[in-house]
Amino acid sequence: MGSNTSTIIEQSLDALLDDQSFLPELSGETRKKAFTSLTSILSTPNHIHKSFLRIALEDGKVTRIPAFRVQHNNIIGPYKGGIRFHESVEEEEVSNLAALMTLKNALHEVPFGGGKGGVVIDPRKFKVKELNQICRKYVQYFSQIIGPEKDIPAPDVGSGEREMDWMMGEYKSIHPGMKYRGSFTGKSVVNGGSLGRRQATGKGVYFSLRYMLHDFTNDKYKWLNERDNIFAKTVIDHKDKSLKIAIQGFGNVGSVVAAEANKCNFLNNKVVAVSDRNVTLHNADGLDIPELIKYTKSNNGDLPIDEESLEEANVKATICDRDDLLTMDTDILVLAALGGQIHQENMKQMKAKIIVEGANAPITGEADSYLSEKGVVVIPDILANAGGVIVSYFEWLQGRETQFYSEEQVYEKLYYKMQHTFETVYPQYFGDAFPLRQNCYIHSVMKLSTILFKQGKLY
Ligand code: GLU
Repeated sequence: MGSNTSTIIEQSLDALLDDQSFLPELSGETRKKAFTSLTSILSTPNHIHKSFLRIALEDGKVTRIPAFRVQHNNIIGPYKGGIRFHESVEEEEVSNLAALMTLKNALHEVPFGGGKGGVVIDPRKFKVKELNQICRKYVQYFSQIIGPEKDIPAPDVGSGEREMDWMMGEYKSIHPGMKYRGSFTGKSVVNGGSLGRRQATGKGVYFSLRYMLHDFTNDKYKWLNERDNIFAKTVIDHKDKSLKIAIQGFGNVGSVVAAEANKCNFLNNKVVAVSDRNVTLHNADGLDIPELIKYTKSNNGDLPIDEESLEEANVKATICDRDDLLTMDTDILVLAALGGQIHQENMKQMKAKIIVEGANAPITGEADSYLSEKGVVVIPDILANAGGVIVSYFEWLQGRETQFYSEEQVYEKLYYKMQHTFETVYPQYFGDAFPLRQNCYIHSVMKLSTILFKQGKLY
């Protein structure tokens, strides 16, 4: 499993071991033993399933594509998490992402465990029919471990509604007569998906940013440690100026964060830079986000890459290298692309004072420690990007109840749930001792440990 996640889980358990007010029933040797078993349960996945999907390509060749489903933990409920379609997918990464799902769901009180899937392909290089076959084969190979009460996949990087619809279709034909609707979430609305699911992660990311900024400006958290007060100060300093935001990734998450920032204009925020796999676009006066969204919709999801396409998009911007965005002089950096984007080599050049993790694990362990020492506030993935899985839960519920919510109701419920998490994380904030990420982990670990203890599973 990814070293950062398991290290933070271990550190969280160490802190809790010394805190006798947590699980006071356990003391002395029994306590130590119980915590050793907690460490092993939470830092290793329950199951790693791997297959090679046999696919007939349109050119007549046959290929075998590695595919994974990691089931990290089902202490709270069925395994839950997306299926990533990307050429860089590896077993260790999928395991790490599955662990993050366990922690994310526990943190937000979503009654699911944690899982993650992966298919080692660049989906852009496959024909639609081939992708359909890959999705159907994935379900065939893993059909016995997936199900509405067992393990519920969803979209992730490189997959979306179309893939979930295909997968659910295959699941239905393999399990006739079964209640199949809850076997996948993130489906299209006509196939039982939820309104607002597609926008949910981005909406939640912007909500978490706004929530923190709002409360800091209200001086609600005056008592926070010095490091986090730098954050408060940054925000307060900007009351009369505008907050500059840079967003890495302009896909399902990044483009929605940009649209929200543009619409809400909270604290006069301004999206000054966006990037995708090809390019960074910068405009110190703020980019025209609606025009960019319109352009990407008709351009295979890609941002304009040269002067000509900028003109076509009707957008004024300077074109820079893709990775330039990360080190630009902005107040807020939203990471909404892939994992491992801020690392040892570039961490010292970061200028943003607030980083929001829209993607999963976009900052490596070393970079995270460095940024935290420097006083940069990171709103961590499990806190900030849970909108997707929260609305997946609503989708699963709506399917069960055959009752559907309006888009407004979905967002209202989403914000309410995220606000509830923020309000429970802060009062128990462990202050000076740990940065926000660790506080979130401690919360999740406490919830999971309490359940395991009640179930008598700490041996
Ligand atoms: N892939 C998303 C995540 O990482 C959503 C998972 C889900 O809806 O199950 O949180």
